[in-house]
Amino acid sequence: MAKQEPEPTAGADEGAFLWPPRKPVAVETHTPPAFEAPPASTAGTPVPTPTGGRALWRAVERCWLAPVAPPLAERIELTGWAPDPFGVFCDRCGGPVGPHEADEFGCAACLTTTVPWARFVRLGPHVDPLRAWVHEVKFTRWRRLGVDLGRLLGERIRLAGAPRERVCVVPMPTTFRRRMSRGVDHAGAIAEGVAEVLDAPLVRALARSHAPSQRSLAPTERKRNAAKSIRVRGKADLRGWTVILVDDVRTTGATLEAAARALRGRHRGGRTPADRMKIWACALAVVAPQSRRGESQEGFPGADPEG
Ligand SMILES: [Zn+2]
Repeated sequence: MAKQEPEPTAGADEGAFLWPPRKPVAVETHTPPAFEAPPASTAGTPVPTPTGGRALWRAVERCWLAPVAPPLAERIELTGWAPDPFGVFCDRCGGPVGPHEADEFGCAACLTTTVPWARFVRLGPHVDPLRAWVHEVKFTRWRRLGVDLGRLLGERIRLAGAPRERVCVVPMPTTFRRRMSRGVDHAGAIAEGVAEVLDAPLVRALARSHAPSQRSLAPTERKRNAAKSIRVRGKADLRGWTVILVDDVRTTGATLEAAARALRGRHRGGRTPADRMKIWACALAVVAPQSRRGESQEGFPGADPEG
């Protein structure tokens, strides 16, 4: 240490003449990477895919996870789960898409089909841990978890640009028999959470009568089966309203479609576009096309999926 090179070191000869002049020592400052905040005006326009998904989620989480009860907040913290950012699923059918694989006309899977809604919003694919949480709501009568998941879904719907005025939330109906056997109206609980966040009325505008389980039917028969079992009830006139149709899981979409078509059939008409009813279909989880066949409710014996 004593026999060091006589290099012009800083500090020792402060103020002394030095030649050649030394470059000032760059002070290394650590600046954290700038956080990309979501666009300020999210209303009316779909939010583009956030780049730093995790960072964005953390910030968003701080803002709106507060009203969520500790159990769900803790689970999210523990598992690192986050809802899908916009852009990883099709806005039209809710199916998974890669970058630039979908536009306002849909994705490859739904481009040639007609869907009876304007927009589809989901929390994520039907995989764990979301899948397990949804099953818990449905089969262990944990209503509170359903409401909390509904709140998260409500936030996504809000961020997707749902209108603020003349919006109502309609839960997918459960048959009386299933509701009694399960002890919980799971879609109703989820819809309650959605309605709370959107500050919109919850309208139970649909009813469902018992029909063979969708699971026992071929995909082609599911549509007819669902259409037969779902009917519109009540006298509410929803023309001019945006209906947020809420379900827990979208499998083939046959049930949601039947519900949307039933609502359209009853509330058709309106002279101007503003007078017509608009529908947004929303589900907590969407089953990927390749796993629909294997879609089962493992761990929940006697479980009977409806969608
Ligand atoms: Zn699509």
